[in-house]
Formats: sequence, structure tokens, C-alpha cells
Amino acid sequence: MLNHEKLSSASLSKLESLIRPAGFFRQKARTIRNFLRYLETSHGGSLRAMFSTPGEKVRRELLALKGLGPETADAILLYAGGKTFFVADAYSRRVLARHDLWKPTATYSEAQQVLHEHLPGSHALFNEFHALLVEAGKRYCKREVPRCEACPLEPFLNHRHVARPDHKGFAFAKPPAVSGVSGRVGPTLKRMELSHHLG
Ligand code: SF4
Repeated sequence: MLNHEKLSSASLSKLESLIRPAGFFRQKARTIRNFLRYLETSHGGSLRAMFSTPGEKVRRELLALKGLGPETADAILLYAGGKTFFVADAYSRRVLARHDLWKPTATYSEAQQVLHEHLPGSHALFNEFHALLVEAGKRYCKREVPRCEACPLEPFLNHRHVARPDHKGFAFAKPPAVSGVSGRVGPTLKRMELSHHLG
């Protein structure tokens, strides 16, 4: 089933049934259909042709598709296409915001821009670093109460802003004072990227 011809000829209900366990399957099935039509129209149904097109152009085209946002577009470009677009998803933004590398309110594109500016432009590095941040986010950096004491990224915390629970839930002892990109963003990312000791 995982080829362009079979997927393109599948009915919407067939697509829905195939991805039902993923959740939001109705919306996702429509997005997949939109993508398949785009792939056929713009790249002759060939992923190879799509990924041999400049990444910025493909990204613009993907973002124009209904239902497809920047996180999905960048995941396609990075993981399937080997292009250097960091997936600055909620896990990545939460972990790195708690380490004061940007404001907790940083948007997807603001966070991605910081990462693109401070990491070497390597898709293999983007791939692994993003996967490690997701794993850290799932295992330790919970949305409500982070488990810093068990987390391998604890040495990278700015201890002036020690994470702790308080009576209202999770809070930093002192709100991060950094309002933008600080001079230590690059070195901190570099050290984190070299720290492969999860779990
Ligand atoms: S040390 Fe704490 S704030 Fe940092 S990633 Fe781990 S759980 Fe999150």
C-alpha cells in the first residue's frame, strides 16, 4: 500500500481506516490526499523528484497545502528528504525554553531560526538532536512538572532558574530573564548535541 499509485487510488474512507489508530484520522486522511495530489501535479508522483527540488521551494509548496503545517512540512523535509530543516516542535521548544535558550512564548519559526543559526547545517545532526529532544521531553521534561533530578540534561540547566513545583504547579524559581538569543546559545546547544546519554 505504501506507494504513490496505491495510495492515490485509495478512497478517502480507505485512507481513514488505514490511519485510524493515529488519531484525528479524518483530518489527516484529507491532508494525505492533498499531499498525494500535490506530489502528482508538481513532481510527477515522484518523491525523488520532490526532494531534488530546493528545500525552501518544497517547503513553501507544502505549507500551501490545506492541513499541513510547518512541523509536518519540516518533518517530511528532514526525516524523509534529508534536508536541513529543524523540527522545532513543542518538545524541542519546551526543553530549550526551560534552559533559557529562548522565551517560553517563542513561536515555531523563532525557535527554528535560533537553531538554524547556532547549529551546524547537518541533516544527520538535526535528525538525531531533534529525536533526542523529543525523547527527553517525553521521559523527563513533562509539561506540568519536569523531572529534572532524573534528567540527563540537568547539568545544562541554568541553576539560577532551578525548576521546581510550587503550590500552583510547575514554576521556575525565578522567571528566565533572557529576552532573546543570549551569547551562550551556541555553546549550550553544542554541548547538548554532544550529550547522548538519555535513559
Ligand atoms: S533538566 Fe529539567 S528542564 Fe531540563 S530537559 Fe530535563 S526535565 Fe526539562
